[in-house]
Amino acid sequence: MANCVFCKIIRKEIPAKAVYEDADILAFDDINPKAPVHVLIIPKEHFASLNEIAEDKREVLARILIKAPEIARLKGVRSSGYRLVLNTARDSGQEILHIHFHLLGGRRMAWPPG
Ligand code: AMP
Ligand code: ZN
Repeated sequence: MANCVFCKIIRKEIPAKAVYEDADILAFDDINPKAPVHVLIIPKEHFASLNEIAEDKREVLARILIKAPEIARLKGVRSSGYRLVLNTARDSGQEILHIHFHLLGGRRMAWPPG
């Protein structure tokens, strides 16, 4: 997607601090972190949100979950704990319309969230 910020990060047209990358997914530090560790994990293929992924493309979601513990380990929070957040559409507060998991850690977090 030409004008998508996260597609531009994948194409290295705008900079980001990469944490993990493979053929299917990219993880990078959030530019405005809400916790000491705040990483975004995205599929390299553009999907606007969880609501927009065709059934035959959903395997990448499993790949992201399978890699999350390794990404947490790379950021030093695997054993202390972390939260994965997937905002979808208006009421969740989703702003960037390229599906992304937030991986948050490095401090105790309130539950339930507000
Ligand atoms: P959401 O509200 O779930 O759509 O989250 C979007 C996230 O993307 C926010 O936490 C932003 O801080 C983050 N973000 C926006 N632009 C960039 C960027 N260029 N590099 C890294 N993170 C970004
Ligand atoms: Zn995109």
